[in-house]
Amino acid sequence: MNYDLILKEIHKEIQPLYNEGKVASYIPALKNINPKQFAMSIQLFDGTSFHIGNYNQQFSIQSISKVFTFTLALHLYGKDLYKNVGHEPSGDPFNSLVQLEYENGIPRNPFINAGALVTTDLLINKYKDETFEKVLAFIQEISNNKDIVYDKEVASSEEQTGYMNFALLNMMKSYKNISNDIKEVAQTYFKHCSISMSTNELSRAMLFLANHGTDPLSKKEFITQSQAKRINSLMLTCGHYDASGDFAFKVGLPGKSGVGGGIVAIIPNLMAISVYSPQLNKNGNSLIGTKALELFTTKTGLSIF
Ligand code: GLN
Repeated sequence: MNYDLILKEIHKEIQPLYNEGKVASYIPALKNINPKQFAMSIQLFDGTSFHIGNYNQQFSIQSISKVFTFTLALHLYGKDLYKNVGHEPSGDPFNSLVQLEYENGIPRNPFINAGALVTTDLLINKYKDETFEKVLAFIQEISNNKDIVYDKEVASSEEQTGYMNFALLNMMKSYKNISNDIKEVAQTYFKHCSISMSTNELSRAMLFLANHGTDPLSKKEFITQSQAKRINSLMLTCGHYDASGDFAFKVGLPGKSGVGGGIVAIIPNLMAISVYSPQLNKNGNSLIGTKALELFTTKTGLSIF
């Protein structure tokens, strides 16, 4: 497969879409980002990688971090985790409050904000005030890169304007599904959402999920095969919020997006992919990123279906 050529074709074909979509503006620190950016990286199991665009440009990973916190929480709690967070698609926006009240404060899945706040709270039960450091260390380990850090300005901007996240936390606290101090959970969550990574780094970080939980390069097992199956299934069914069905329909891969404009996806037994373009569609997913992945699976025939 000539991946270099395919990436070049994709880059050309997405050009007309630069006039569509909007950068996330509800987080003030993200709203002045140059909207017309694009990068895409492919990481194979033998260490070979292919890229196009500014693939070393770091951006805010936002909800992509929910894959990493869910992985850690699943590793620590196993099936007990599902007492506090479900595994069904929500069909609602990522920060929706509505369903949470009907369902007594138990979020539908770990990839909507409410679910990620619960997994962060559960991590705090185990790691106390070292929780963020543990999450960051885990991301550095799966990426084999000690230089990954978070952006303080983005984290404090989220904290100052995170009214919906505080509302979700308050509601879940009243249903006794949050044990720790709300401010501490929020600050830890905002920090992990504010971690900055490039498509190059993200595609490397996701490789273990393409290989049943074991990094094919370092051979380290980060999670069991069965747990990796669960994480990938949830990325397929819930990774793009109320557009998860649309993403599965168009792209046909397990994937996770963030409002920073990044998307990660995996092709089991073959590769991890990451794409970045900050203009979002109405569901808060990268518009060009989704199109680029759709073009990739169409051109290569490499969807899981
Ligand atoms: N930190 C963002 C928030 O809480 C994450 C949302 C997202 O990427 N969809 O709103």
